[in-house]
Order: sequence, then structure tokens, then C-alpha cells
Amino acid sequence: MKIIFATGNENKMREIREIYSDLDYEILSMREANVDIDIVEDGKSFEENALIKARAVASAYGGEAIVFADDSGLEVDYLGGEPGIYSARYMGEDTSYDIKMKAIIDRLAGVCKEDRTARFVCAIAAVFPDGREVVKRGTVEGFIIDEIRGENGFGYDPFFYVDEYGCTTAEMTPEQKNAISHRGKALRMMKEEL
Ligand code: IMP
Repeated sequence: MKIIFATGNENKMREIREIYSDLDYEILSMREANVDIDIVEDGKSFEENALIKARAVASAYGGEAIVFADDSGLEVDYLGGEPGIYSARYMGEDTSYDIKMKAIIDRLAGVCKEDRTARFVCAIAAVFPDGREVVKRGTVEGFIIDEIRGENGFGYDPFFYVDEYGCTTAEMTPEQKNAISHRGKALRMMKEEL
């Protein structure tokens, strides 16, 4: 059986292949499955957006496969959950993450550590060949610090601090981050549905 992961992101492909390596599934990216479509993510939640993507790829793909899609982002509690589903578009899609993070740091000026709680959220949707749909949500809790630290990871990692590791997710090794990440958790939960 094939699983198509509706992403063009190589890091995500590596992560799913690692987590599912003990299962007998062939795991393909959208490109490897020859699915080339533009998808408008106009849902109101991570779950809705993940389902929109998974359904679109499932209907574009001719063959028999399970289709996975994910949607993820950063929720900052003091900002009412912003940037949330707009994480990639926050301050403009082409704006660097340095600028996006500095803008959030400025909005949190003077806010004490207890009120700087945040989480990375990942929803993974699966559409099965018989039409069954399943969505799982994984999260990782942390704090927004007022500086940018670490070279690993991507996006909002350099200011997302995880107490139990005493560092930002950009200061973790890929193995450490995968072990605790929102996407890793959602992928492991989805594994139980297969
Ligand atoms: P997407 O789901 O890959 O489109 O990511 C959505 C947004 O959330 C992007 O702005 C990412 O930078 C951010 N994001 C998602 N996961 C992470 C993460 O693990 N670290 C840092 N930023 C993330």
C-alpha cells in the first residue's frame, strides 16, 4: 500500500519515513506521486486546512493510496493564539523569520515568562481509499524568549524555548526535536490508525 504525503518539504518526508520505517508502506511525496496541483488553504483551523489538502490530493491522484497532509504553526497565548494558521503569512509571506520573530518579541515586551507560553501545533489529516477521514493533532509546549538562539530547525524555532531541554528548538539536534515535535507526535498518533 502507498501513502502519499501532500508536501514538497524534504524535512517532513524524512521525518515520516523515519517514524514509519517499521511499517510496510511505500511513502511518496506529491512530486513522486506526480500530483501537481495548487491548493487554496482557506480553512479556519489547522485541522480544516490539513483536510482540504488531503482531500484535494486524494481526488487528483488516480490510483489507490492513503493520502496524508499536514498543517502547522505557532500559537502564542498572550497574543490570543496568533499567528496560528497564519504563521507562514504573518507580517507578509515573503518576510523573513527574523522579522516575524522580532515583531512577536516586540509585542511581548515587558511580559513575564509565565505569560509567554506558546506551542507548536500540527494537524495531520488522512484520507483512506474507502473515503474514511481521520485527523490527529500533536503539540509541543514552550515559551517565547526575547532573543533569537540556535542555527538548527527552521521558521520560528530560534525563539521557542523548551524548559525540559533548557534550550530553543533551534538549539536541539534534529533527533531531539523529532522526538518531541508536534509533527512527530501527530504522525505517531496517525500510525495507530493504519
Ligand atoms: P507549514 O505547515 O509547513 O506550512 O508551516 C506553517 C508555519 O508554521 C510556517 O511559518 C513554519 O515556519 C511554522 N512552523 C511549523 N512547524 C514549525 C517548527 O517545527 N518550527 C518552527 N516553525 C514551524
